[in-house]
Amino acid sequence: MLDPGHAVMNDAGKIINFGARVRRGAWERDIALNVAETVAPLLEAQGAKVYLTRTQANPWRYGYSPQADNRGRAILANVVRADAYIRIHCDWNPDRKFKGFTTYYYRWGSRDLAEAVHPALAGALPAHRNNGIKRRSFVSASAHMPAILLELGVLSNKAEGKELAQGDYQSHLAMAVAEGIIDYFQRNKS
Ligand SMILES: [Zn+2]
Repeated sequence: MLDPGHAVMNDAGKIINFGARVRRGAWERDIALNVAETVAPLLEAQGAKVYLTRTQANPWRYGYSPQADNRGRAILANVVRADAYIRIHCDWNPDRKFKGFTTYYYRWGSRDLAEAVHPALAGALPAHRNNGIKRRSFVSASAHMPAILLELGVLSNKAEGKELAQGDYQSHLAMAVAEGIIDYFQRNKS
């Protein structure tokens, strides 16, 4: 299950989860969706069945709170019995010097997934700051399978925000994410 973050509206059509944005530029929700939509066929080419929590055809999700929506996404992963749950995001920080990519996990069964995907990102982004693998409860306690949350870069950083908005860079990130996921499944054949 790939989960491009954000893009939630309530019943009244009001956006309740915008996500972050490059200053006067691209939205996190669109970058995450582009990356996820590029990862999916790469996994499918390896024989995987891939689900997405939202797609280009249905880019918005509907809910009454971001928290409830995030729980709903994890429940969706549970319902389809996903083997892995990958949440795709971009970071934002009030410190405009802050940059780099970070992989988060929470439940201990998720550490292997983090340790497969994060090095793939590191390999693809040698000139970027590697903020490492971190354990945080926001990744999702509701998902019953290995789950990670990727912060692919930092939108508030001028140079990184510019890169993240570019289609070529999004494809580059997607290839790294797919490579990491494939590596995880090759190591954890059941
Ligand atoms: Zn986000």
